[in-house]
Amino acid sequence: MSQGQDGTTSPDSPVTPGTGSASGSTTVETLLREPGLPPSESRILLSHVLGWSRTQLITRDREPLAPDAVAVYRGLHARRVAGEPIAYLTGTREFFGLTFAVSPSVLIPRPETELLVELALARLEGCASPRVLDLGTGSGAIALAIAHSRPDAQLTALDRSPDALRVATGNAQQLGLASRVRFLESDWYGALAADEAPAPFDMIVSNPPYIVAGDEHLSQGDLRFEPADALTDHADGLAALRIIVAGAVSRLKPGGWLLCEHGYHQAADVRALCDAAGFLDVFSERDLAGIERTTGGRRA
Ligand code: GLN
Repeated sequence: MSQGQDGTTSPDSPVTPGTGSASGSTTVETLLREPGLPPSESRILLSHVLGWSRTQLITRDREPLAPDAVAVYRGLHARRVAGEPIAYLTGTREFFGLTFAVSPSVLIPRPETELLVELALARLEGCASPRVLDLGTGSGAIALAIAHSRPDAQLTALDRSPDALRVATGNAQQLGLASRVRFLESDWYGALAADEAPAPFDMIVSNPPYIVAGDEHLSQGDLRFEPADALTDHADGLAALRIIVAGAVSRLKPGGWLLCEHGYHQAADVRALCDAAGFLDVFSERDLAGIERTTGGRRA
């Protein structure tokens, strides 16, 4: 070995550029020892910056890293320590087994929203070539998860934000689903073509902004970095849900389902909205945390 026990390099040792030295190359191992973040989060950032798998982070953990990569990692590390969501730093988030690109223009897909997709897919069983409308699609997570699971489905996914629609369109292309998802810039039902067949949809789904204006959660954690318009209606939390429920009946085929995600305290209110709009079989379903998270009903 060319290294003495005190860690110095003996003068006659061959110098191999790019290999570790006792003078302290920066490696995955040394970066993971730095304070600030849980190792699980540091690993996600390292994997993203280096393009290495979790296994490579282990097997190559003493390999000296290029200074550029270290600088990029340190930049992301600092932003994460300052609170930025991991998903915005890496630009991706898994949802329903699929990888979605995300940016600060869109809400980061949540695990609890997978419930909405599961309930939707269960209610589309037996419905051949369903037409589904997703209101406020954001990254496209709900619409594209449905399209992926139902190769015979045609989706219309709309959002008021052109930036969100760019993210969603990119996701549709990346997932090979673009031919079956039509994206539309629209403020809720506003831009749905008047030339649509009357009541064209077998299902309407939405995860709208439902957080009450001024709710303390909006100024905490990841939510501080997410688009406010995707989180809150800037009112009582039910403003978007009222519009969605009220407009759904005339766009749904008879027997078609409306399914909406909502806040932890809103299930009874959303059921009341559905009842008042004449929906049948109105129900709420709990998420994995035991919270009534999704409410729906069927058009008469
Ligand atoms: N479930 C999200 C949260 O509370 C809110 C999503 C939404 O407003 N649609 O973090």
